Amino acid sequence: MRPARKYIIVTGGVISGLGKGIAAASIGHLLSSQYKVVPMKLDGYLNVDPGTMNPIEHGEVFVLDDGGEVDMDFGHYERFLNTNCKFEHNLTMGKVFEEIRAKERRGDYLGKTVQFIPHVVDVIKEKIRMTAEKEHADIMLIEVGGTVGDMESDLYIEAMRQLQDEVGEENILYVHLTYVPIPAGVQEQKSKPTQQSVYELRRRGIQPDVIIGRCSETLTSEIKGKIASFCGVDTKSIFTGLDVDNVYKIPFLLEEEGIVSIINQKLGLPVKSVDDPWRQLLSNLDHPEKEITIALCGKYTSLTDSYASIKETLMHCSAHTKAKIQMKFIETTEIEQGKMNVAEVLQGVDGVIVPGGFGSRGVEGKLEVIKSCRENSIPLLGICFGLQLMVVEFARNVCLLEKANTTEVDPDTAHPVVDLMTEQKAITAKGATMRLGAYISYLREGSLARKLYDSEIVSERHRHRYEVNQRYHQFLLENGLNISGLYLEKNLAELVEVKEHPFFIGTQAHPELKSRLSAPAPLFLGLVRAAMEKR
Ligand code: GLN
Repeated sequence: MRPARKYIIVTGGVISGLGKGIAAASIGHLLSSQYKVVPMKLDGYLNVDPGTMNPIEHGEVFVLDDGGEVDMDFGHYERFLNTNCKFEHNLTMGKVFEEIRAKERRGDYLGKTVQFIPHVVDVIKEKIRMTAEKEHADIMLIEVGGTVGDMESDLYIEAMRQLQDEVGEENILYVHLTYVPIPAGVQEQKSKPTQQSVYELRRRGIQPDVIIGRCSETLTSEIKGKIASFCGVDTKSIFTGLDVDNVYKIPFLLEEEGIVSIINQKLGLPVKSVDDPWRQLLSNLDHPEKEITIALCGKYTSLTDSYASIKETLMHCSAHTKAKIQMKFIETTEIEQGKMNVAEVLQGVDGVIVPGGFGSRGVEGKLEVIKSCRENSIPLLGICFGLQLMVVEFARNVCLLEKANTTEVDPDTAHPVVDLMTEQKAITAKGATMRLGAYISYLREGSLARKLYDSEIVSERHRHRYEVNQRYHQFLLENGLNISGLYLEKNLAELVEVKEHPFFIGTQAHPELKSRLSAPAPLFLGLVRAAMEKR
């Protein structure tokens, strides 16, 4: 008989930003080589998804194969569990209430008063059940967004409490992540915030089985003893969420502290120790043989969370090439305002990324960077908006189409080399209406793209409304811009490149979303190798 499905619930306390997603993903990583671990994240906000949120406020919007726009924690889940998630794995209160309202309008509640408890909580549990069934999960790994005590997450916490009654105590493990500060002056690990946050959790009917205390040092046995006695948790079930230079080390730190046997004891899940390829790759990172500098020329560079997946991908490339990568964040608005000069900015830079983006701010600065890369043989990878601007730059400076532009920036340009996709023209609603998710590109023979991917077709994830204007494809080709990747069904340009250049390639997709530590995104790996050669 198949063993009962297990549930691991991860909550957080004290403050936000402690890395609940990483903690959950790390636990998942340790189990995922032997069990089908299905992650879910429960977000308290009323947006249906983060697709309409400002990346400055919310960080990067992560896009899944199915086109779902989800919280950036899904980047960690996919990378740590080596899995592909689905839109329904990210539950939001926006989705929950959409469903409640639809049910109520259909008359499903048969005249009853619709209430937070039981109806809203039931929908939450139902969504979890459905996902578990559909995915044939051995283990459901559920992260409750926010901090215990937030009004926003209370309904989720209640649902997680009720889940225990339904699935049985022996099938559910509650993990609580808290903060153990070491105040300056005192120089001692402090347990009070943990005590108070566990108190809040217990007040809501949940007794944690495992506590992870985020701390700048390994938790001492004294502090573990104190937390144990105040929180009703065995000292062996208290772990350090250590500040580390690389979060991929966290699974191994938790493993060394004994988390796997604690999970096994509570859930009765035997876990074999495996030879994890991550160990060698992480050791490569600690022993680099070369150093290169990659510039990221974007708009929200002050908030590096908005480019989280790009940073991750470069780290994956580092582990495979043994090149230490210094990232230089360049705010292109400063170039166009004349505060910085392109030649100076690119001094000592071995490779450049022009990432995705929206709107006109910083665009002229990006165009200057692209021109300089093209003319000076500096390796360049353009991503999404980056590809579109590579086309604009090429049209202006090689094809001599004066003031050529994307209509996103200049709706009245005489040369709209990048324009809204036909199917986008009638759309006015903003939520989930872009060209989203995985699409297949055909790669032209003899192209750099084909060489890097080592394949004739490739599937990458997308998030955009504009495309290279098909009226200009032929003209661009004749002038030397190779449209090396195509979405054949609609004749959309997916990749562009310039032949007489060591590495000058743009992709309409976001290959950083599918990069893994064990399998870095090929275009990024190509950029890093080209940058290493340049140096
Ligand atoms: N703004 C561009 C578009 O909508 C590019 C989007 C992006 O870079 N993700 O097509």
